[in-house]
Amino acid sequence: METSNSHLVGVAIPTLRQLRAAILVSANSTDAVEALRASGYAGGDSIYSAFEHWLREAGESGDADAGALPLSEFGSKASTFFRDAGWGDVRFSHDDDEDVAIIDIVDCWEGSHGESQDDPGCQLTTGMLAAFFGKIAGYPVAVLETECCHGDSSRCRFLMGNSEVMSYKWQELQQAT
Ligand SMILES: [Zn+2]
Repeated sequence: METSNSHLVGVAIPTLRQLRAAILVSANSTDAVEALRASGYAGGDSIYSAFEHWLREAGESGDADAGALPLSEFGSKASTFFRDAGWGDVRFSHDDDEDVAIIDIVDCWEGSHGESQDDPGCQLTTGMLAAFFGKIAGYPVAVLETECCHGDSSRCRFLMGNSEVMSYKWQELQQAT
């Protein structure tokens, strides 16, 4: 299998949104969510490669090892990369008490912004983030979208941690609703 950066293609957001909507109407919601998340996950490695390539092009990282960047520097670089690639305005922070990473995306490309009542949230993005950050962490990470297009700023919030922590967060969330 080829492993170059040619694995990225500039598909227009309306095309992706329409594909996503088609999947949502053609399968039951559990299967559709699973399919979207798996599709996002499938692309995570390629996006990670593109990120390393981008770091190298920018001359920011000699060995282009994204995992070796200091955390604050990694956050600002990754924000710029994701924003320029059209994902939205991405911010990283960390909840020290809960030991989870927080990823906020303002104007996430995938958010429904209230267009659809039963939209399952940003599942492609959730899958992609899990693969991308799993690659950096070197172990499987779980990602959970806890707020979708929330508030005036239309922010989506994703929590990320190891699967144990995240399944606990998920249960907490289920109990709250
Ligand atoms: Zn969302």
